Amino acid sequence: MIRRDGGQCTARFSDGTRCPEPGTDVDHIVPVSLGGTDDLEGLQLLCSWHHQRKSSSEGGRAAALTRKSVHRPREPHPALDD
Ligand SMILES: [Zn+2]
Repeated sequence: MIRRDGGQCTARFSDGTRCPEPGTDVDHIVPVSLGGTDDLEGLQLLCSWHHQRKSSSEGGRAAALTRKSVHRPREPHPALDD
């Protein structure tokens, strides 16, 4: 699989050019939880940057919603009340 992909990240940028980074991470094209496979056809090489980006877009939606609640609305300090 590494040989098939030439040891290079297989991700493509939006303009169609292939990522020039070396493929350091093995990624499931379709996550196993969504019916993906561990066969070589279901795997691809990604650089760590693309792998992180893909992983966060797959599992990041729920995390992003949770993250929003971290910012609490500012309230006046009780000691400032009359
Ligand atoms: Zn890449």
